[in-house]
Amino acid sequence: MVDMVKTHTGVSFGLTEEQKMLQKMARDFTTAEIIPVAADFDEHATFPEDIFHKARELGIVNMNIPAEYGGVGASPFEEVIVAEEMAYGCTGISTSVSTNALGDLPIILAGNEKQKAYWLGERLVDKGEFVSYCVTEAGAGSNVVGIQTRAEKKGGSYLINGSKIFITNASHAHFFTVFAKTNPDAGHRGMTAFIIDRNSPGVKVGKKFDKMGQRASDTAEIVFENVEIPEENRIGEEGQGFYLAMKVFDYSRPGVAAAAVGLQRRALEESVKYAKQREAFGTPIYQHQAIGHKIADMAINYEASRLLTWQAAWQVEMGIVNSKVPAYAKAFAADMATKAAIDAVQVFGGYGFMKEYPVEKLLRDVKIFQIYEGTSEIQRNIIVRELFK
Ligand SMILES: Cc1cc2nc3c(=O)[nH]c(=O)nc-3n(C[C@H](O)[C@H](O)[C@H](O)COP(=O)(O)OP(=O)(O)OC[C@H]3O[C@@H](n4cnc5c(N)ncnc54)[C@H](O)[C@@H]3O)c2cc1C
Repeated sequence: MVDMVKTHTGVSFGLTEEQKMLQKMARDFTTAEIIPVAADFDEHATFPEDIFHKARELGIVNMNIPAEYGGVGASPFEEVIVAEEMAYGCTGISTSVSTNALGDLPIILAGNEKQKAYWLGERLVDKGEFVSYCVTEAGAGSNVVGIQTRAEKKGGSYLINGSKIFITNASHAHFFTVFAKTNPDAGHRGMTAFIIDRNSPGVKVGKKFDKMGQRASDTAEIVFENVEIPEENRIGEEGQGFYLAMKVFDYSRPGVAAAAVGLQRRALEESVKYAKQREAFGTPIYQHQAIGHKIADMAINYEASRLLTWQAAWQVEMGIVNSKVPAYAKAFAADMATKAAIDAVQVFGGYGFMKEYPVEKLLRDVKIFQIYEGTSEIQRNIIVRELFK
């Protein structure tokens, strides 16, 4: 791990004393509450509701809700410190407990005072509810502009019709931030964001999906059938939804990258431990250069992913609006985490393929990092767009 290095340029790759304390708190929480149950929650696809509430009491979930609405008011940098620690324990559990910090972003970034006080303050902070972020549809994932969910203005309300797929925490969410078309002929200018209460008549949440990995996270479909919501549930102006969805990703991608970094650290530490103790041909396997080098690459990629993630979070904190660095961080950390998990299984040999060893789960859990919140291909499209504009 990089430790405190402060130079005369003012650049620091280290953590302040407060950040180190936060990191320790999240690490201790992960050790006590997440690691012991991770395998069982994975096997039974258990939603970690109790863990969420314990983490909430400690102030390590809902971290991005500003203090004026009763939240922790943490910085994006503090969020990535915590995300790495919890993901080290289990990325399924960490995804579940951190999804509010995605679902609430449209309100934080574009909501009005009344919306923030009610949905962030009363609903998320005081009542401890869950919110899901709903963009993806069966026919439109990467192509966000292709969504079909329709929001029609009817007097002082909107009528919502359509469906969303692969929505994290949908089975448990008390409300949803939903992107819909207010003007289907206006392309990306025809999209608007709304807050939809789960109890609204016409909201139906489907059965949760049975997944390959991150099984302690909940993923389900939501159908909106003539759901009538008041105009005051519109987030921002009509037509601003696409820009808002893209802005949300600039804020959320450092956190996803941080989770991939946490998984890399787990793969690295498990590999070091195993390669020291396992012998083949009369020597610990790390002394076979093919294995030692794999683990060295894991360490290099982990540190590099983490630095990019920190830079992306720092940039958000500094108010620098730029999709490029969050895309670098998300793409690199996801790709390197995938490589680390594959290589960790290789280091463990046949045992790596068995459920009783922790790296089998890492390999199943890791794949989604290259898919959700923009696939690795889409991150590269963003980078090309930014480089050539
Ligand atoms: C477990 C899980 C949780 C999720 N949680 C949420 C959530 O909470 N909220 C939400 O809104 N969504 C969520 N998603 C959806 C996720 O963001 C999408 O699955 C993802 O964006 C990809 O969309 P798609 O599945 O439709 O794939 P597609 O867009 O159909 O892509 C298929 C393949 O084609 C590639 N491709 C597509 N277009 C291009 C292009 N222009 N250039 C190069 N390659 C391209 C993709 O990279 C991919 O490899 C979740 C998905 C999963 C699996």
